[in-house]
Amino acid sequence: MEHKLTNRGTYYSAPIATIPLGNRILEAPQHPRHVLATIRDQHSLDFSELLNTSSYVNTVFEPEEEAVVKIGMRINLADQTVYTQSFDLHNRTLNMVADLWNCPKPVDFDKKGCYAGAGTVGSTEACLLAGLALKFRWRKWYKARTGKSNLEVRGTIPNIVISTQFQAAWEKLFKYMDVEPKYVVPTSDGKVVPEHYGNQIDDKTIAVVCIMGNHYAGVYDPVSEVDKVVSRVNKEKGFQVGIHVDAASGGFVAPFQEEVPEWDFRVPNVLSISASGHKFGESICGTGWVVWRHREDLSDHVAISVSYLGGEGESFTLNFSRPATGVYVQFYKFLRLGREGYRGLVRNSMKVAKYIRDEMKAMKHPKSGKPFFTFLDNGDDNCLPVVACRLNPELNLPYDDIDLQHALAGGHWYVSGYKMSFHDVAKDDQEEPLFSDQDKDETMFRIVVKSNLTMPMAQNLISTMDAALKFLENHGEGYNQSHGGRQGKHAAC
Ligand SMILES: *Cc1c(COP(=O)(O)O)cnc(C)c1O
Repeated sequence: MEHKLTNRGTYYSAPIATIPLGNRILEAPQHPRHVLATIRDQHSLDFSELLNTSSYVNTVFEPEEEAVVKIGMRINLADQTVYTQSFDLHNRTLNMVADLWNCPKPVDFDKKGCYAGAGTVGSTEACLLAGLALKFRWRKWYKARTGKSNLEVRGTIPNIVISTQFQAAWEKLFKYMDVEPKYVVPTSDGKVVPEHYGNQIDDKTIAVVCIMGNHYAGVYDPVSEVDKVVSRVNKEKGFQVGIHVDAASGGFVAPFQEEVPEWDFRVPNVLSISASGHKFGESICGTGWVVWRHREDLSDHVAISVSYLGGEGESFTLNFSRPATGVYVQFYKFLRLGREGYRGLVRNSMKVAKYIRDEMKAMKHPKSGKPFFTFLDNGDDNCLPVVACRLNPELNLPYDDIDLQHALAGGHWYVSGYKMSFHDVAKDDQEEPLFSDQDKDETMFRIVVKSNLTMPMAQNLISTMDAALKFLENHGEGYNQSHGGRQGKHAAC
């Protein structure tokens, strides 16, 4: 039986406050304030996004940015013909990104008014587009090399060489776009051996992917060293394998760190780079970027040309309609922060990460006096502002990293634990060890220092960590059972 709904009274005295959240559209319209209250209430039960140290996604915006969001949400960026000036902003923002990554000016820059690239919905769409362009480029080359027919070439499954620390975006490429992953397995310090990429390359390899800041521990893949290996293999075997850099997080961090070896378009074999504008790019959730070195035989493969009065444009994205908000906010942040502002953000985040790391290094198990944690991140520089670690296995504790995650949640912090495993698409999604030196059932956790995690907040996180460890020391025995043992699983983003 449905309540007769009225719009009178306050939210809490109105019938809507007594109706369970349903799965069917109600008959009667509601007061806007009451609808807002319903949604606010629901959201208040979430973890606070500001205390979510598991995610890389930016959550802080100035009031002016919120105004910008309101303008952008009414603009469909796919309508290049109507919203020419908004699309001009897209192109200018894209050019700023390409310039930041030292992309050489393509020959058709003046004709097109922009680098080859696109604003996307996050890194995932950017990675998928880059992967597709590389796949089609490879097909052309493979056909010429083998003399096979189009049909035969299309029936041949190509591969991509990538570290097991790939983010789930790549799992989508493997599955949706029929690309077989060939893995390079790092050690638990997140380090890969450049030579291992070379061993995996064959004549069906569309590209090598280097990750600039893997999401597990924020370690950068050694792009310029991998580049040398790729050049050598290409020369020896007559291949044309290029590198895609997945710089989802590092794309807006590494350019502002002095100590990082060359990783962008300065590296000869780098053909494309993708990044999430909504991570350290500081834009709004749903912003991503992909930039190609050139159009010919690369981004051309995924471009649909759209013509409009007085101009000619190209559409790269997998989808058409989408709001202009991501582009607007990214442009806002570039203009607002400048390079100096981004440098300041990176400097601060790295400093806070170091503080958290140092404090955690100093935490000792009360009985044995041994350190509570062992660390998996890269230390204090040439990496993302991330602290990645695990409870010291030597301590043989009756609780694990996932228990610690639950205990920290008592202090409102969301710190997520992970298993050191990945899903192998080639083996029906079977779980395989992430690292060459650790069992797949071992766990770890990480703290991402986003720009809103200031020093005073980090101090609170450390005291919460202290309290959580004390709690687990006193109640840890059997606590493990409460979440069914080592079952921690989390879709990292
Ligand atoms: C976050 C991340 C992605 C996916 O990015 P979205 O912007 O969430 O789509 C891909 N690769 C890496 C390395 C990431 O960290």
